[in-house]
Amino acid sequence: MVSRSDTPLIVAGPCSIESEQQLRSVAESLCRIGGIDMIRCGVWKPRTHPGGFEGLGEQALQWIEALKSDMPQMRFCCEVAQPNHVECALRHGIDAVWIGARTTGNPFSVGELAQALAGCHIPVLVKNAPSPDVELWIGAIERLMAANIDNIVAVHRGFALYNNDRLRNNPLWEVPIALRQRMPDLPIICDPSHIAGRRELVQQVAAEALAIGFDGLMIECHPDPDNALTDAAQQITPQDLQTILQSLSPRNSLADSAEQLLHGLRLQIDEVDRQLLSLLGHRLDLCREIADIKRANNIAVLQSKRMEQMLQNRMQQAEQQGIDPQFVKDIFEKIHAESVRVQLNDEH
Ligand code: PEP
Ligand code: MN
Repeated sequence: MVSRSDTPLIVAGPCSIESEQQLRSVAESLCRIGGIDMIRCGVWKPRTHPGGFEGLGEQALQWIEALKSDMPQMRFCCEVAQPNHVECALRHGIDAVWIGARTTGNPFSVGELAQALAGCHIPVLVKNAPSPDVELWIGAIERLMAANIDNIVAVHRGFALYNNDRLRNNPLWEVPIALRQRMPDLPIICDPSHIAGRRELVQQVAAEALAIGFDGLMIECHPDPDNALTDAAQQITPQDLQTILQSLSPRNSLADSAEQLLHGLRLQIDEVDRQLLSLLGHRLDLCREIADIKRANNIAVLQSKRMEQMLQNRMQQAEQQGIDPQFVKDIFEKIHAESVRVQLNDEH
């Protein structure tokens, strides 16, 4: 049984196995770093678009099997998405498997995997589905538990929202916190690589995750990240992983204290404010386009009727959302004034 412990569980390794040499290189580096509990390596890759590198399948598992005899102390895990993947991975002595985000989102697929894994005691890591639906995540875990799979670890990899710009997947920390509240004994680790999407942000997301109190991390690590066949932008070198791990300090359990709940909420406020500012910038860009059209057609910058309609409309929307209309009017008057200023400045 994988149980929650004070020492974070660290899983690291390449997004995909690309060659035997690449696998050996990264595995040897990770062994040298120390403190890595398990090497992750993608063998079957679910790709959003057709035509990309989809993993080397059984051949990669044969390389893992050969490597394991040289590194008996190291454990390896791979993603499984279909029952035949489970059968093949177990036949080659895999130490753990994970269910990827796209698979968790499909209850039929999870049911088939649970059947294929029934009765085996290796850890099964369950990533959240791409949508922020805690029930779908819990449902996948329940399907595995119903098949007597007891070594379950949840992996938070963020959510694919339409407007993600800075991060590849929005962390929406309240969702894994809700999972912790519903299943207090379940270990939950964080995958900062798929949340960040860019290697320079991995450290920051990993630090936030440990500050909130996750039970560990899954980090993508490649000997030559720029030339990786999948997820090149977010993978980091083993050396960078070592630096990141040295910089992190584990905390108490996820949302065990009010302070951690506050921290999680403040992180979300920071993210909302960042989105507000990005939208404000976008709004001002639209105003500049409007300014060009007004100038070309000799139309006055200030259109009081349009301004009045806009303010009335925003106040109505505020009321519908339970926000004080006067407060919203004040904000939009300021925004409108800035829009006029920008349009006038562009005239000179
Ligand atoms: C992966 O771990 O490489 C992967 C495909 O992740 P996810 O299922 O979270 O997208
Ligand atoms: Mn990946």
